[in-house]
Amino acid sequence: MQHRILSKDSLAAFLEGLRKEHVVYAPKRDKKVPNKMVWKILEPGESPLFEFANTDMSPKDFVFPQSECLMRFRTGEDGTSVLKPIEPEPRKTLLFNVRPCDGKGLSFMDMIFCQDEQTNDVYWRDKRERTLMVGLACNNPCPSCFCHEANCGPHSETGLDVLMTDLGTRLLLKPLTDRGATLVDGLPEAAPGDVDRAEELKGTVEASMKPVIRTEHLEARSLMDAYNLPYWDRVCEACINCGTCTFVCPTCHCFDIQDETTPDGEEGRRVRNWDFCMSPLFTLHTSGHNPRGKKMARVRQRFMHKYKYIPMKRNGEVGCVGCGRCVRLCPVNIDIRDVINAMNAPAEAKPEGQEV
Ligand code: SF4
Ligand code: SF4
Repeated sequence: MQHRILSKDSLAAFLEGLRKEHVVYAPKRDKKVPNKMVWKILEPGESPLFEFANTDMSPKDFVFPQSECLMRFRTGEDGTSVLKPIEPEPRKTLLFNVRPCDGKGLSFMDMIFCQDEQTNDVYWRDKRERTLMVGLACNNPCPSCFCHEANCGPHSETGLDVLMTDLGTRLLLKPLTDRGATLVDGLPEAAPGDVDRAEELKGTVEASMKPVIRTEHLEARSLMDAYNLPYWDRVCEACINCGTCTFVCPTCHCFDIQDETTPDGEEGRRVRNWDFCMSPLFTLHTSGHNPRGKKMARVRQRFMHKYKYIPMKRNGEVGCVGCGRCVRLCPVNIDIRDVINAMNAPAEAKPEGQEV
């Protein structure tokens, strides 16, 4: 598909065109905490930012909300329950200036929620089909980012409809899907020199990102060897089970389903809420048995899932896009990059990188 060019002077008119069919959201500074970035509606007349650290929360909740009503029910006249499915919202959402790691994150979640005909989550699918993503390539990654080592990258295109590269006073737009091509239709075609400049920026930023994780032994290591590493006790001691890392993560997808009813039990709703695998309640069976009854087992699960179980099951794909949110926001400074390096190190060796 043909690259297009957009002058930043013409951006307001371009966004106005997008608003005719979409509600446009973009990363904005939080009014109360200026160095915190949040996803908010980009109002007419507002200019999107092009230099910003990634949002604290990933955009996954546009498609997988923190709390989502799946259906409503009431007791019918004959005493049986009458189900009332929720009608999907007709509005389309456009996420502007999505970081490439978050585009890859939603693409990863497609694989989880819509694996095949049996696993085809209509709630996810419906919102995903109504959500377009215009990405912004990263030219200045944060120190916590390691997308280049997580099957992603600062100019990754996966999951996005359009990838934009900031060329200073102009933006280069690369449509990646038919929907993306429709969005940029009508913009002038880019010159070969603009495309070359974007490639140059990509090469420069990729070269600037140094290696921080090692996985070569982890791939070959047996599952039980990784599972039984003494290192897990140390990570467990530090973790306070707050769940922050999972809630901010663009690829974490654990949820719980609850039925909420009125006091008389006549009406109610079924709600899906984010949950996290480190919570003692998450795996608790109705019988009272908990297959991950120890905190260590629950902490281990998060990292083993992302960097051992998923790669084994999905041909080397990892359950992490290297966005660095959990690195930045964990209140006790557990750094997943250190954990990965410890998982990679021989059992008897000291883990590489910082101590947890
Ligand atoms: S595990 Fe951490 S670095 Fe990886 S995608 Fe999730 S929040 Fe980002
Ligand atoms: S953010 Fe840190 S302390 Fe909180 S659950 Fe995750 S690893 Fe544990």
